[in-house]
Amino acid sequence: MLAGAHLIFGNALALSLTESPVSALLVGFASHHLGDLLPHVDSNLWPRDFDDIRDWPRLLWALLITETLIGVLILLHFAPTFAGRWALVLATSFGSLLPDLLSHTPIRYLLKRTTVGQAYLDFHKSFHFRLRSPKRAATTVAALPAELITATVDTVHPGARVGEADGISYRWAKLALAGVIELFVLVLSLLVLGSLPVSL
Ligand SMILES: [Zn+2]
Repeated sequence: MLAGAHLIFGNALALSLTESPVSALLVGFASHHLGDLLPHVDSNLWPRDFDDIRDWPRLLWALLITETLIGVLILLHFAPTFAGRWALVLATSFGSLLPDLLSHTPIRYLLKRTTVGQAYLDFHKSFHFRLRSPKRAATTVAALPAELITATVDTVHPGARVGEADGISYRWAKLALAGVIELFVLVLSLLVLGSLPVSL
């Protein structure tokens, strides 16, 4: 997921689960990894991984900036609900973006110097939904959503797969399904945010 989706998903979870900024930060942080695990589009549009934000292609930057702005605007729509809870919202938002700040900015080189830091970077990467390599040995849990999507598209769209490499229409069919699931998660999150009591 990109930043806007993480903000919406994280705040929906944290604001319905806790009233403490510290646990909101932790829920936000955990929600990032859960959101990463769920099927979604983001850099799955590209056939390779991007670690350092400085190596990102311009189109990914444009996508990130646009998606973040839309996410923030959507979140601000719930400002009346957030009244009196802004500390929670800020703590959650920081927590839900922290994993990507640690992994994709130059902070990653500091983490890489320590065993724990490297282990965390590996965890973040391997616990991330990746459409193009469903059969990763790394983590079975993380590979499962992509396996399910592949199996679904194989059933609905038999013969779409072209040889060993994925055909373009096959890749788009899988991406579309991942996008629909991401949209579903976001709509659910918005419904949760909309159902929160407005504090006076
Ligand atoms: Zn992430």
